[in-house]
Amino acid sequence: MKRNKTNEVKIVFDSKSENESLARYICAAFCASFNPTVEALADIKCTVSEAVTNCVVHAYKETAGKIYLTLKSYDDATVTVTVRDRGCGIEDISRAREPLFTTDAAGERSGMGFPIMESLSERFKVVSKIGAGTCVTMQFNLNKSAQL
Ligand code: ATP
Ligand code: MG
Repeated sequence: MKRNKTNEVKIVFDSKSENESLARYICAAFCASFNPTVEALADIKCTVSEAVTNCVVHAYKETAGKIYLTLKSYDDATVTVTVRDRGCGIEDISRAREPLFTTDAAGERSGMGFPIMESLSERFKVVSKIGAGTCVTMQFNLNKSAQL
């Protein structure tokens, strides 16, 4: 059955780590009308943090850029969260998605962002092009979470 979109929000913000909490709050507020469980909300906020952090530390590195957050809800109580950047892009997406894979040489990263996003979402997609940027899309089913 075809689902119909019920709401859409698009926000653009600077690639600064302080905007990570902003993105978390916006996602939580957007999902509020579905009465999500505390756990479901925590999962969504966690995945958004991971995706936004990746834009800040990997996509733009020491440079500044914009992060594009798109939230969509549907009449089947699903929500999609898209985090896009116009940064450096990912050379090998399959490899980047492997647990513990990281290009961070400073030893500050654990290579678990993508695996966390994948495990906490219903659907997870990464599209990327070198020099053009990366787009991460995650889907959550809030109806299901409310019944748990
Ligand atoms: P952690 O998230 O655990 O702190 P991490 O960021 O290295 O560590 P992932 O989030 O799983 O781990 O990302 C894996 C790798 O994919 C990164 O090390 C980086 O090379 C690449 N990557 C992820 N997101 C982006 C992005 N938006 N732009 C460019 N490269 C990215
Ligand atoms: Mg990460």
